[in-house]
Amino acid sequence: MSSPSQTHDAEPIPPGARDAIDELLRTGDLFRYRDSRDAPVALLEREFADLIGSRHALALSSCSAALFLSLRALDLPPGARVLIPGFTFSAVPSAVVNAGCVPVLCETGEDYRIDLADFEARLDGVQAVIVSHMRGHTSDMDAIMALCDARALPVVEDAAHSLGTRWGQRNIGTIGRIGCFSFQSYKMVNAGEGGMLVTDDADLLARAVIMSGAYERNWEQHRSPRDDNSQDLERAFLRWQNRLPLSNVRMSNLSAAVIRPQLAEVPHRVRMGLANHDRLAARLRTNRHFSIPAALGPERRAPDSIQFNLVGLDDATASGFVAAARSRGIEVGIFGAGTDNARVFWNWKFLSELPELPRTRAMLMRACDLRLPVWRSTAEIDAIAGALLAAMDEATRESGTVQG
Ligand SMILES: *Cc1c(COP(=O)(O)O)cnc(C)c1O
Repeated sequence: MSSPSQTHDAEPIPPGARDAIDELLRTGDLFRYRDSRDAPVALLEREFADLIGSRHALALSSCSAALFLSLRALDLPPGARVLIPGFTFSAVPSAVVNAGCVPVLCETGEDYRIDLADFEARLDGVQAVIVSHMRGHTSDMDAIMALCDARALPVVEDAAHSLGTRWGQRNIGTIGRIGCFSFQSYKMVNAGEGGMLVTDDADLLARAVIMSGAYERNWEQHRSPRDDNSQDLERAFLRWQNRLPLSNVRMSNLSAAVIRPQLAEVPHRVRMGLANHDRLAARLRTNRHFSIPAALGPERRAPDSIQFNLVGLDDATASGFVAAARSRGIEVGIFGAGTDNARVFWNWKFLSELPELPRTRAMLMRACDLRLPVWRSTAEIDAIAGALLAAMDEATRESGTVQG
């Protein structure tokens, strides 16, 4: 085993991408709207919508762009308050701010999911909700949709890390009004950069398509012959024609060519990711200082990383564990340690008001993050488990100050 935890290992690109890329290089047709016949981006949109079970899909330059366009597509008034979880990637509060809205943060529990009591308590005065399934941990979508539907609040799902995750009979990303996915390198499908917005709502799609940069009549290429609602869609496009500012966050055909052959691999990657995650979790659970939150009942996860909480350790012992793991070649990070982690709400100093979330803070000071690329072998997973357990033994033996 070369190195047990290269946190930045990405998924390799299937060889099938090469022919499509060669063809694009030969023709030079890199712009999605250059050739109206079956551009790779348009094909990807159709394939992704079919895979996920949504009516429409719009390919974009990133999930951040998808989140921003979601809020713009919802036509929220300037200064609208948007509820987001206190534990998410900084892309989420950033999208809210960039859309001219105001993020309202709610608590997340030790299981990394939205704290429903706090969520409900903060819903008054909010005009939209972004549920971020952080690191692929699904919040209780039944409860969230019931609370939001009762108030007619639109829900956007940040499913950046949830491609392949199921909630009951549905795919995560298709439960709210809009779902947003990422193809950045450290997600389940790797295009370097890329995003996807999915929705069943023709009006939202039309607004998002135009604002993504479908200037003039380029939106005509979004009317798929297989779309049973193409009339709805055409009416929506005509309604918004020339009425919306553009942000030009389109996907290039090159990215689509890299992504398309990976979609067929998603079920396999999900199986491997889950097996690796559960194997490592079972080993870590043999030591009482590790706590790995279980999946929720309706949730079938698609993990490409593992998160666990350090239990009964004081600060010095917790950093001792991180150092002992590093000396064994495993880069584990405690989210809240250090000054720059983009997933830590108190580092979002671009917010005009930095709230305090005591539960989320306590979780972030003990929650560890370890990337677990899905193609790791069982031998590598066992080596990682052995190294983490040995690191915990070393840290707790050396410190006389273990709590509990
Ligand atoms: C990666 C990620 C994003 C942002 O995705 P990009 O495609 O890099 O913009 C947003 N939310 C979460 C939870 C993520 O993990």
